[in-house]
Amino acid sequence: MYDVIVIGAGVSGCAVARWLSRYELNVCVLEKCEDVCEGTSKANSAIVHAGFDADEGSLMAKLNVRGNEMMDDLAKDLDIPFKRNGSMVVCIHKDELDGLKVLYERGVKNGVKGLKLLSKEEVLELEPNLSENVEGALLAPTGGIICPFELTIAMAENANENGVEFRFNTRVEDIKKGEDGLWHLRTNNGEYKAKYVVNAAGVYADKIHNMVSADKMHIIERRGDYCLLDKEVGGHVSHTIFPQPTKYGKGVLVTPTVHGNLLVGPTAIDIENKEGTATTAEGIDALTAKASENVRNLPMRNVITSFAGLRAHLEQHEFVIGEVKDAPCFIDVAGIESPGLSASPAIGEMVSEMLKEKMSLKEKENWISTRKGITRTEGLSIEEMNALIKENPAYGTIVCRCESITEGEILDAIHRPLGARSLDGVKRRTRAGMGRCQAGFCSPRTMDILSRELGLSYEEITKSGGKSNIVIERTKGEV
Ligand SMILES: Cc1cc2nc3c(=O)[nH]c(=O)nc-3n(C[C@H](O)[C@H](O)[C@H](O)COP(=O)(O)OP(=O)(O)OC[C@H]3O[C@@H](n4cnc5c(N)ncnc54)[C@H](O)[C@@H]3O)c2cc1C
Repeated sequence: MYDVIVIGAGVSGCAVARWLSRYELNVCVLEKCEDVCEGTSKANSAIVHAGFDADEGSLMAKLNVRGNEMMDDLAKDLDIPFKRNGSMVVCIHKDELDGLKVLYERGVKNGVKGLKLLSKEEVLELEPNLSENVEGALLAPTGGIICPFELTIAMAENANENGVEFRFNTRVEDIKKGEDGLWHLRTNNGEYKAKYVVNAAGVYADKIHNMVSADKMHIIERRGDYCLLDKEVGGHVSHTIFPQPTKYGKGVLVTPTVHGNLLVGPTAIDIENKEGTATTAEGIDALTAKASENVRNLPMRNVITSFAGLRAHLEQHEFVIGEVKDAPCFIDVAGIESPGLSASPAIGEMVSEMLKEKMSLKEKENWISTRKGITRTEGLSIEEMNALIKENPAYGTIVCRCESITEGEILDAIHRPLGARSLDGVKRRTRAGMGRCQAGFCSPRTMDILSRELGLSYEEITKSGGKSNIVIERTKGEV
């Protein structure tokens, strides 16, 4: 029995959990996958949007701008990388210049600071690799880049340290109000009960909502394909370069990532498939063509992987956050498409304020606001590295050659709160397997470490939980 159950351990659910962990409450997060950040939160552009896109007065605009403002302190508190590289909406046709002014004015009304309209010369001076056809741009210096995995994982770890329980591999299959006045959640791992439920189930938020409400919700999965390029070309642009937005979203961007890669995408294709994250050749061709209109000589030969994410699109294109009218004590956090990542701290804050009022919550005296990230060896001097290896020799063994990730970092990822249990769990926490060879070299070595540390056989180790086993059976017996 819990005070609050949060369904979904994406960036929204983990933000809600982290902000709720400030209060004297029993909170539990139920997640159908084997780890946090397995849904849309793992596959997006990783931009902390400035906030000029969403309509004035919308919840999306308000939470985007507030989330953006909160990000510096949050990144510092949770020890995660965040960079305000600035974003630019560029136009390559003179008749689009008026569109930039509309965005500028909307941004000012939304409370975005520092917006500036740039001439062709100013744009090309800042970004020499943009198309010579560029006519002008809107510059938003508060736009930033973040690691979506680290943001989500860090909020979850911090919530967990403050007492929030996480139940993985636990899928909510039905919800009913019991005679005891509590919500009864049937899962594949037994029944859970709670006074309040927060539905942060991403593209499944409609299914969860429809379990308790007669006022049905329908989420359209809008797929976005991406190409990730090698760090060698990570400096092709320094700002996040957007085209003019359309009714399908912010368009195909080109951006450096916070870890130094170059990211190109996404497309926007409506599909009726909540698991449809396969990329297509047409999608990749389309995003390459679109991005090449704004950015010259896009180094697409340096693509190291492609992936797709699903936007949880509602027809009204607005976040739906609040108590469901015909289901008291049931809170929806639904329709969280872009800018959901940027808004996530503000979503956590908003839901916790809402519950604070409803439940007359008391703040904990010993709430831990900070979290220490994994000790990174990247960027350490020889002296610092030697000192670290002296303290713990595991930092002297490189496991992932592309990203220079050591055994010490992987051990930390496995043994910290809500530690990694799969190859992807290790990858998202440490970047082992994220580099040019895409885990070709380090997978067996990471499997050795997972097997040894968690007492798992090779057959039990998965790429990302479920049936994603890597070794099916032994053909040569024990070696
Ligand atoms: C292509 C694309 C680009 C984007 N780019 C940006 C960007 O640059 N900046 C930005 O701010 N935002 C961006 N977004 C939006 C952002 O990624 C999302 O708003 C955010 O990740 C949504 O997080 P979430 O926690 O609501 O959903 P999710 O991350 O999908 O989490 C939902 C979780 O619920 C779990 N779940 C579902 N059903 C159940 C069940 N029955 N029982 C238990 N668990 C369940 C899922 O497994 C999942 O882990 C983008 C989105 C896409 C698709």
